[in-house]
Amino acid sequence: MPNPAILTVDDDPAVSRAVARDLRRRYGDRYRVVRADSAEAALEALRELKLRGEQVAVLIADYRMPQMNGIEFLEAAMDLFPAARRVLLTAYADTDAAINAINVVDLDHYLLKPWHPPEEKLYPVLDQLLAAWTASAATAAAELRVVGHRWSAPSFKARDFLARNLVPFRWVLADEPEGAELLAAAGVTANDVPLVVTADGKSLVQPTTADLAAQVGLATTPAADFYDLVVVGAGPAGLGAAVYGASEGLRTVLIERRATGGQAGQSSRIENYLGFPDGVSGAQLTDRARRQALRFGAELLSAREVVSLEDAGAARVLRFADGSSVAAHTVVLATGVSYRMLPAPGLAELTGRGCFYGSVASEAPSCSGEDVYIVGGANSAGQAAVHFSRYARRVHLLIRGDDLTRSMSSYLIEQIARIDTIEVHPHTEVVGGAGQEHLEEVTLRDTRTGETRRVDTSWLFVFIGAEPHTDWLDGAVARDDRGFVLTGPDLTRGGRRPAGWALPRDPYHLESSMPGVFAAGDVRAESVKRVASAVGEGAMAVSLVHRYLEAQ
Ligand SMILES: Cc1cc2nc3c(=O)[nH]c(=O)nc-3n(C[C@H](O)[C@H](O)[C@H](O)COP(=O)(O)OP(=O)(O)OC[C@H]3O[C@@H](n4cnc5c(N)ncnc54)[C@H](O)[C@@H]3O)c2cc1C
Repeated sequence: MPNPAILTVDDDPAVSRAVARDLRRRYGDRYRVVRADSAEAALEALRELKLRGEQVAVLIADYRMPQMNGIEFLEAAMDLFPAARRVLLTAYADTDAAINAINVVDLDHYLLKPWHPPEEKLYPVLDQLLAAWTASAATAAAELRVVGHRWSAPSFKARDFLARNLVPFRWVLADEPEGAELLAAAGVTANDVPLVVTADGKSLVQPTTADLAAQVGLATTPAADFYDLVVVGAGPAGLGAAVYGASEGLRTVLIERRATGGQAGQSSRIENYLGFPDGVSGAQLTDRARRQALRFGAELLSAREVVSLEDAGAARVLRFADGSSVAAHTVVLATGVSYRMLPAPGLAELTGRGCFYGSVASEAPSCSGEDVYIVGGANSAGQAAVHFSRYARRVHLLIRGDDLTRSMSSYLIEQIARIDTIEVHPHTEVVGGAGQEHLEEVTLRDTRTGETRRVDTSWLFVFIGAEPHTDWLDGAVARDDRGFVLTGPDLTRGGRRPAGWALPRDPYHLESSMPGVFAAGDVRAESVKRVASAVGEGAMAVSLVHRYLEAQ
């Protein structure tokens, strides 16, 4: 495989040559520096690299170029090489445009011209971006192939895990010639899917998510036995806690059972998060936070589920399902919530085979030209309806109430009203589902008349409220009757401290009934279920961690 490329584009040939010269001087032995004098020529070069199966590590684009400016170029380049790091070269006068580009194209850095001396202004930035690119799972798994059946739940689980962790892979159907060849080469049959074939030709038959994580370069075991802070759950609250904890010098480990981003990572467009006037995809926002946490030195363990929490004197011990454990002075519980299952008969068996919980953005292209049913009237269902309408023939949004006004933000109601292919069905609930290999039909009931009808569909996406799944905390920390973790003032209602509380002070604001264990985000009782508040609580929990540690 040839060296990965660094591509630089500037319409001023003198500047273009100068950037390329400086890049070659430092990186020429490990990277191929590709130079273009226009955005069109650069995109053409990228297409060629893509066809040849080569990798691109960094894209450096001048902002002011005729026909297509640097931001537009980077946006188009993202479709070809989404994992490449993006840098905009700007004049001082264009700083505002560069700052806006941070949202539009998830810009990693902007460099002001002139960049001399490069040792101070260019190389430190590039060194960091190249290190991040090299360390990213994307490079480790560039050639990853997943062989499976379209309607196999284990195949879906492997695909969903890789997609949510932003690991690029190629999906190969078991009954295609390439799939059959790979299965034969691995000595297995189509009954053994998913088969995952790594870049270096290693075959993994029906891997667990932990096996998969380890193969694609995601860490799964802690590097140390003891930390200042363990954060459980890598949604916005956990990422917030990890960024602030690590940046403030705490030895921090973040543990996630599925994929960084949590619920927010599933959101196709978050429009109400501060600082992103054009909205931002949840995956993009949380991937930036993940990189930020890693840059500050936080450790991230993927595909690891915490199953118990114990008070061991000054230490707090968290145990994994395989019996191993990790200990720390303090813990932030940021385990959020998960979708409630639809209790309709027939659907449980079809989960992952046509019936999905959450939007599962990776499935959207598979719905092209088909009818999709979405259950739920809150923003998450609305966002999914808008997202799926780009692919599906028709999106049916099923709600129990009269209309969306009580449960959905007005900006989304307006968007939905403008899309002809979305149909809202009020007073409708799903009461059954059926299918052999996969979902083939659902039964709908009119909540006013009780009348039922069957509709043919292979796609049902369910968004019917969420619950915290905190059974594993039973007996460790106090929870409310729905399982949300009680903290601070909610623990001392009536003037009494929680049972077993031995300290001569009340629990701090986000502190649970176990001293030194805090809860942040959706898992906390009475929390506001929003990205901004989850991030804020993650940050606030860290300041309380400091207060706790100082008093020890
Ligand atoms: C589709 C969708 C769209 C949304 N849109 C918006 C929006 O536009 N604006 C907005 O403000 N909010 C939105 N929300 C709500 C917002 O995403 C949540 O409020 C926010 O993600 C809560 O963050 P959190 O970190 O508390 O929990 P979560 O995001 O739920 O993250 C918790 C994480 O903990 C992990 N975890 C759970 N248990 C364990 C365990 N035992 N061990 C290890 N890991 C564990 C989970 O896998 C998960 O990754 C949306 C939600 C959804 C589902």
